[in-house]
Amino acid sequence: MPSGLDIANTLKYFSQTLLSLLKEVREVPFEMIKSQQFDGERMALYPNLDYKQLYNALTQLVDVVPLIHIGLQAFGKALLQCLACLLPFLDHDLIDNLSYLTASTISVLPMELHEEIVNYLCFYILPFTITRRIEASGKNAASQSVAAVIMMVFQYSNNPAHHCQLLECLMALKPGVVKDILCVVAYGTAPARASAAKLLFYYWPSFNPNLFDRRAVLVKFANDLTPFVCQRDSCPNAGNAEAGKVCYDHRISITFATESPPPLYLCIECANEIHREHPNQMFYDILHPMQQVSMVCENKNCRAADKSAISICFSTECASYNGNHPIRYCQQCHNIRHNNRRGGDHVYHMALPHISQLDPQTQTYMVQAIVRQALF
Ligand SMILES: [Zn+2]
Ligand SMILES: [Zn+2]
Ligand SMILES: [Zn+2]
Ligand SMILES: [Zn+2]
Repeated sequence: MPSGLDIANTLKYFSQTLLSLLKEVREVPFEMIKSQQFDGERMALYPNLDYKQLYNALTQLVDVVPLIHIGLQAFGKALLQCLACLLPFLDHDLIDNLSYLTASTISVLPMELHEEIVNYLCFYILPFTITRRIEASGKNAASQSVAAVIMMVFQYSNNPAHHCQLLECLMALKPGVVKDILCVVAYGTAPARASAAKLLFYYWPSFNPNLFDRRAVLVKFANDLTPFVCQRDSCPNAGNAEAGKVCYDHRISITFATESPPPLYLCIECANEIHREHPNQMFYDILHPMQQVSMVCENKNCRAADKSAISICFSTECASYNGNHPIRYCQQCHNIRHNNRRGGDHVYHMALPHISQLDPQTQTYMVQAIVRQALF
């Protein structure tokens, strides 16, 4: 068995090769990846190499991790980097599997890498896999595997900050994620179930707050969320400034962060600097973690008589009114910000309807969750 360091060097070589192939591409692979419709066209942008074979090799490496004793950390880092670099080269089936494969590394890689795994999921993989538009006949299997991803991370990471980070990332991407959380509460292992139930109470508006002491969780979760920092190689803040902007242009990304997969996450200072050199590039705001879970409307101009929060919105437009943090609304403000004229594409979450109004599968999860006494 070669040491973890030897395998890490080989993997780094592959990642570097992938990034240099990607850098040659003139089109917009990170735009095309949003829809299955462009998969053929996107795959045709690259030289005809066996990317599927590399993916399969990485899958097998995950299985042999327990045999690696020396250089495990270097190996793990290189493996995660390579998985993310490979994403834009993959076809439909493998894109569907990538988020679960990445999440499953948490069951074998050392604790020191848990944060890195969650970061790769939240910043490089999930944003491109679970929101893909799938052709009429198909279902987005990546989106269907979300419950399995949550179970993996909740079971193997014992840091609640990782659980919060993953969940907030998913809440920003997937409107129906409450169903996945219920599935974890219903069928997860004991630690995963307990954490999923707590977070459901913590994040969901009016999810039976009387049954749970929110303050206890608040203190526990608000600690130790390590901010995701600027990824530019020559950032003047040298890895200490929180990333606030993202650029999806793969060539800009690889130019300024030579070893990172796109997209490029930047502190405000670097985003401004690069923007000056490249005025045509777009730099988007990124959502910051929720600071506290407010029980009342966070709209500063709220005029409602009943200000109790009933929804939480994760879209960058609504978040921009709240310092780029997700924002909670009362019924009146919710209706003003989300209706058939505006905010139709926002990802927001509201209290679950009564169990009798849920779809049959969610009802089953709910009943199972109750039976397992995690919730009530
Ligand atoms: Zn920077
Ligand atoms: Zn912030
Ligand atoms: Zn309001
Ligand atoms: Zn909104």
